[in-house]
Amino acid sequence: MGFTTTVPGTARIGADRELKRAVEGYWAGLLDATELEAVAEQLRRTDREQLIAAGLDSIPVNTFSYYDQMLDAAVMLGALPPRVAGIADPLDRYFAAARGAEGVTPLEMTKWFDTNYHYLVPEIGPATSFALDTSKVLAELAEATDAGAAARPVVIGPVTFLGLSKAVDGGAQPLSRIDELLPLYEQLLTELATTGAQWVQLDEPILVTDAHDGLPELAERVYTRIAGATDRPKILVQTYFGDAGAALAALGRTGVEGIGADLVEGSVETIKAAGLGDKLVVAGVVDGHNVWRTDLDAALATLTDLREHVGELAVGTSCSTLHVPYTLAAEDDLDPALRGWLAFAAEKFDEVAALAGALAAGRESQATAFDAARDALASRATDPRLHVAAVRDRLGALTAADRARGEATARRAAQHEALALPPLPTTTIGSFPQTGDIRKARQQLRQGQITAEQYREQMETEIAEVIALQEQIGLDVLVHGEPERNDMVQYFAEQLTGFFATANGWVQSYGSRCVRPPILFGDVARPTPMTVGWITHAQSLTGKIVKGMLTGPVTILAWSFVRDDQPLAQTADQVALAIRDETVDLERAGVGIIQVDEPALRELLPLRSADRQAYLDWAVGAFKLSTSGVADETQIHTHLCYSEFGDVIGAIADLDADVTSIEAARSHMEVLDDLNAIGFSNEVGPGVYDIHSPRIPGAEEMTTLLREALAAVPAERVWVNPDCGLKTRTTEQVTAALTAMVEAAKAARAQV
Ligand code: GLN
Ligand code: ZN
Repeated sequence: MGFTTTVPGTARIGADRELKRAVEGYWAGLLDATELEAVAEQLRRTDREQLIAAGLDSIPVNTFSYYDQMLDAAVMLGALPPRVAGIADPLDRYFAAARGAEGVTPLEMTKWFDTNYHYLVPEIGPATSFALDTSKVLAELAEATDAGAAARPVVIGPVTFLGLSKAVDGGAQPLSRIDELLPLYEQLLTELATTGAQWVQLDEPILVTDAHDGLPELAERVYTRIAGATDRPKILVQTYFGDAGAALAALGRTGVEGIGADLVEGSVETIKAAGLGDKLVVAGVVDGHNVWRTDLDAALATLTDLREHVGELAVGTSCSTLHVPYTLAAEDDLDPALRGWLAFAAEKFDEVAALAGALAAGRESQATAFDAARDALASRATDPRLHVAAVRDRLGALTAADRARGEATARRAAQHEALALPPLPTTTIGSFPQTGDIRKARQQLRQGQITAEQYREQMETEIAEVIALQEQIGLDVLVHGEPERNDMVQYFAEQLTGFFATANGWVQSYGSRCVRPPILFGDVARPTPMTVGWITHAQSLTGKIVKGMLTGPVTILAWSFVRDDQPLAQTADQVALAIRDETVDLERAGVGIIQVDEPALRELLPLRSADRQAYLDWAVGAFKLSTSGVADETQIHTHLCYSEFGDVIGAIADLDADVTSIEAARSHMEVLDDLNAIGFSNEVGPGVYDIHSPRIPGAEEMTTLLREALAAVPAERVWVNPDCGLKTRTTEQVTAALTAMVEAAKAARAQV
């Protein structure tokens, strides 16, 4: 027997971030394991009951996690790194792998496909010997089944698990070991069947990518074998985050009973052509990755069309609702029109149920939901905030000249004359420690305990302290320290039209860490300057140069929920024009150096390589639009947070920033060779110390790194800076490290 309504998974951090608080409490020793587990059980129950109440007839379980689902899979498959094996308590071992412990470095963390969620990368090496541990999934299955739920356990499938793992200690490519995992999955299926599961969901999002060659063939081989197991539940192979292409047909040839497909990013034609006439297809027509209300009429048409081509049809979201906030009900100050256009997780569950109801009994049976969706869509299509003539006209009038500056060497000459900096100039990436006092002031302002004027005065005091500290340390190019910014994207979103900042729209970023992305719903413009007052105030306090500090258009998009009614490229250009206005105003106010951060440039990179060039073209175009309104004498900096660029490296040169600061300390300046290889010839600030660790490196260590940098790049193109902003460090750490950094720069200068 099949099912008709489900979701591939749900969030687990809690509508009020209960799990975050409980887990952090456990880490701090304020809660014991039993108390933590009680919170977890309550959250699982609430989640389950919500899905049942919404009318879903198959309920995902084992989607709960104390930290991360990939880490859970590593535990299930006995693939934790040997360095945590000595930790006896399973929960503490788990958290040690996730976040480190005394003498134990954690697993590396990286982006989960094209979402803002980050997973822990399992390490597979010669010491890895897989062994099955089904305790978590069986317990969560039993818990839900005992409560009467039609529970469908969810685990990461073997192809995705190994495909996302990394080889360590000279081990082979993890996927080459897939045959070792198959007996474990067969055993897992048997145990799930014994515990009463009718269905199991194996997540294989890697099938929408071309991260490895031959994925469809591999999936076919793996699932033919797994489906051959006796005594097993029915198998649903769930894909998401894009069109699974040839993998769908490959899965269609196997004995699995169900296939889940993303119909928001993927195409219905792929499914129709895949030969799934004997499968249950879970059609992900409701967007699990973005916050917009579904066009129910369009979705119903797709489902009706699809029904003829598949064995059975169920309705679902395109991916787990892990990636969207819990509920619109938690937003008190939402503009009524905007509320109508949105659907967070709770509202998406209702959409899934309405669609399944309409599929079974006709649109009229769900007239209330369908009519409301139709009205909301009509209001969204005609709302003047989404089609602002002034913004559109400006965009329409752009020419190639708006994305180009003078020739780079001429700019360098003009800037060197205007700025008169010493060789190997020292600077920082922008933020200084966000102290408890700063956060408290922001909270007091929000709660009306201090006035905007008092807040401004306090921030100006912070700025004055940061300026004095930098002068004392002897840095060449100063920053104001960003105390007034809650977040490098939200700060700007709050001042631009077309954005809405939620009150409670938290989504998990990793572990206990949550973010609250703003919603970009309309045409974007910048009514008034956003940073000029702060920067000019900072500049008034010192004779040294203060660098202006902005977030770039691509990063603003990457860390927001973005409107889906026009191409991203067009939205990026609107944001770029707003940032351009700010650079022009900063220049007019006498600011000679302006940094436009793009740490998320690589994050929006499409999952399939064929789509990448088009993305890079518009992303680079937007950055250049945001930075090309200033004179040659004005120096544009950019900052990127990582050193492994892969396919994106060419784009860094294409940004044509005068100075690019980049993470390099942890990888021994290797990125400079990569930049040389593509002919990068602008100035570069390779990070000479790792700010992510509280450790304070000595001057000699940084001098060594600088020497390595100077071997790769001529001195007149090298800057000296840390590898990222300093907001997570303490003032003591920052003072010591920057003092050593300035010392290292002086030592290196004496040699050039
Ligand atoms: N200017 C920002 C800061 O210093 C850059 C942060 C980032 O790279 N993510 O905090
Ligand atoms: Zn950074």
